[in-house]
Amino acid sequence: MDKKYNVIIVGAGPAGIFTAYELIKEKPGISILMLEKGRDIYKRHCPKHTNGGICINCKPCSITTGWAGAGAFSDGKLSLSPEVGGTLPDYIGIDTAREMIRYTDDIYLKFGADAGIHGHIETPAMREIGRKSIEANLKLVQCPVRHLGTEKTQELYRSLYEHLKNSGVEVRFNSPVTDFIIENKQVLGVKSAVKNYFGDYVMVAVGRDGSDWLMKQCAIQAIPTEVGIVDIGVRVECRNEVMQEINDNFYEAKLIHYTRTVDDKVRTFCSNPGGFVSSEYYDNNLAVVNGHSYKDLKSENTNFALLVSQQFTEPFNAPIEYGKHIARLANMLTRNKIMVQRFGDLVRGRRTTSDRLYRNNIVPTLKDAVPGDLSLVLPHRILFDIIEMIKSLDKVSPGLASDETLLYGVEVKFYSNIVKVDKSFQSPSVRNLFFGGDGAGITRGLMQASVNGVLIAREIINNLSSKS
Ligand SMILES: Cc1cc2nc3c(=O)[nH]c(=O)nc-3n(C[C@H](O)[C@H](O)[C@H](O)COP(=O)(O)OP(=O)(O)OC[C@H]3O[C@@H](n4cnc5c(N)ncnc54)[C@H](O)[C@@H]3O)c2cc1C
Repeated sequence: MDKKYNVIIVGAGPAGIFTAYELIKEKPGISILMLEKGRDIYKRHCPKHTNGGICINCKPCSITTGWAGAGAFSDGKLSLSPEVGGTLPDYIGIDTAREMIRYTDDIYLKFGADAGIHGHIETPAMREIGRKSIEANLKLVQCPVRHLGTEKTQELYRSLYEHLKNSGVEVRFNSPVTDFIIENKQVLGVKSAVKNYFGDYVMVAVGRDGSDWLMKQCAIQAIPTEVGIVDIGVRVECRNEVMQEINDNFYEAKLIHYTRTVDDKVRTFCSNPGGFVSSEYYDNNLAVVNGHSYKDLKSENTNFALLVSQQFTEPFNAPIEYGKHIARLANMLTRNKIMVQRFGDLVRGRRTTSDRLYRNNIVPTLKDAVPGDLSLVLPHRILFDIIEMIKSLDKVSPGLASDETLLYGVEVKFYSNIVKVDKSFQSPSVRNLFFGGDGAGITRGLMQASVNGVLIAREIINNLSSKS
């Protein structure tokens, strides 16, 4: 007879981890099984770190899968404003979201997060940056950030792993879930390639890496979804001195611009002062660009993403495919590497060559990036949105629109489609099936994904209590 768990959690990213944490805290003795596609935290090694930054396309990718999901190798920037990192306020209201962020932040502190917070004090220098932003038609969103750094982030999630394991949570790695088991509109468990698992409640938090699989499952099981947005853009890299004022005052300033031409929303995202540009690989070897920074190891450069939000309308309903198509086009020209172009070459309509790349003050931190021409990859509209944004940002951080500024492409955020859930994050069409985190299109960052996990745990506890 197969064991029946109280709760099965699919995906061991921050959303899944915080579900398990809150469940075990409030209901010690509850039986929890976590099924994770990737590796154990102690076995998550990216070969790039020891072979000169060259990606060898591991499967599954240690950067995006395994214990702590995409969070493990992330820069660990915890956004403490409910306005950033997802849409939780749409489900629970802004005040509850704020309160839940405080609660979850305390858990991060308990497991070793740094006490310092960047960007929450209004200094004259910050006000001056705000004034320059207005002049440049940029909206400055204030978001206090607790910065862990990549090494500290891994340490923290390792401690959470040990805590959950010692509290009796069963975790199975290298165990991708392939199907849901649903009967009479109620979830009974899940299937993996080797075994079926049964549980009273199933919580699904498969992250961006699992979102394609999740959408296919929703289609098979007639679980309603809706088309979300897709963010496409580039990662910008410049010398630290260009961004110093913003770095020193905010660590990360979130700036939004609506373009004068087509009124598209362009925003800065995930800034890494002294950081490193990185490539990450999705299924089928699709290379997209990202960036991170370490607490101690620093480069001479700052990198951040510039993302253009695209909301598609009928009849088109496959924004993830659209984003991947563009990324594939870039991969085609670079043999699956990340493309890099100098801003000066882009506006002049010419390819960046190795010679042009290395005549600058800036030295690229992504060593295997291939110099190329982003205008052969990005749609005209996105390209011009990015150029307009860089020119606006140059008014706040003079030097950003310099010829030597590097643009790496493409950065795509695959959080497009949204699983429809009620206010308790439960599917309205299948009982006892909960969806959370980035994979369900609800969150887009560590803090909101973690908060979402806590909220789902509380809903499950409420359900359990009402039954006993
Ligand atoms: C390089 C990088 C840097 C980042 N930096 C930051 C940052 O500084 N601040 C911030 O707020 N956010 C950052 N993010 C985003 C952040 O990591 C995510 O928002 C967060 O991890 C989402 O949590 P999640 O639990 O929803 O999903 P994930 O962390 O993606 O975890 C989902 C897990 O589900 C697993 N999975 C997928 N499919 C299946 C399946 N079929 N069966 C079983 N398991 C499956 C995956 O292997 C993965 O481990 C970064 C992301 C990356 C990639």
